[in-house]
Amino acid sequence: MNRPWAIAIHGGAGVHADRDYSRAEAFLYDLVRDGADRLKAGMTALDVVQALCEAMEDSGLFVAGRGSAPNTAGFIELDAALMEGHTRRAGSVCALKGFESPIAAARAVMERTDHVLMTAQGAERLALEAGLKTIDDPETWRTQPDGFLKRDLDTGHGTVGAVALDIQGHLAAATSTGGVYGKRAGRVGDTPLIGCGTWADDQVAVSCTGWGEAFIRTAAAHDFAARIRYGNQSLEAAGQGVLDAVASLGGDGGLIAIDRSGRIHMPFNTDGMKRAACAHDQDAIVGSVG
Ligand code: ASP
Repeated sequence: MNRPWAIAIHGGAGVHADRDYSRAEAFLYDLVRDGADRLKAGMTALDVVQALCEAMEDSGLFVAGRGSAPNTAGFIELDAALMEGHTRRAGSVCALKGFESPIAAARAVMERTDHVLMTAQGAERLALEAGLKTIDDPETWRTQPDGFLKRDLDTGHGTVGAVALDIQGHLAAATSTGGVYGKRAGRVGDTPLIGCGTWADDQVAVSCTGWGEAFIRTAAAHDFAARIRYGNQSLEAAGQGVLDAVASLGGDGGLIAIDRSGRIHMPFNTDGMKRAACAHDQDAIVGSVG
């Protein structure tokens, strides 16, 4: 019998109806199909969500990795986290400077230390020990033609994320971000905080995007999982409940989620969210506006 698998990715909530997102959509469509191939070939959900996040970080199309913008002090600080559901292993980094892939650094925290969240020089030393690529020329990161400053100035935020169910029945989530526009040096959003922007357990995997302060104050990703675990809510009801709570604090955004049977849900309360998904029983889909 074919085992269920599923993959969903996002490139951030908050779009403009008059913008052309065809490049980002084409990229996400190809990427989600690549993720599907990896899952069908037996790759673990954890490896797949990391690989897809790395590709999105490297694309320069989203506000993560290469597409990030400097904070108000003029330098780039990146946040990322990943979590494996059945083991509850997790790793994250915040305000990371000088490395191409914060999600790879988060994986290094998970694999190489007994810690979950690392920051500052300690995280940077660990990333070096793990052999991760440093940013050779930070200037090119600031002047990306499709970069955050030009593209998303008035959107205010963006992020990338991936959730997956593998054919072993295991779930994982990963999220990586350059943070919100106009953030102060040292500001950390929901993305690297386990249970806020990123969560996976044995029932569901969740990756959030949006105004991080509201996602922190509602413990959004864990609240989503708790609604399912303790409240027996559907994915739809859980998504609505979480986004209503975020909205009640003046926040906006969205999330992607997959449950253990491979059902996918991708709600948002912004004008749009760049997203794509594919599953054992569903062809690849992609969307951005609406
Ligand atoms: N949630 C991210 C943050 O607050 C930004 C985003 O998702 O757009 O850092």
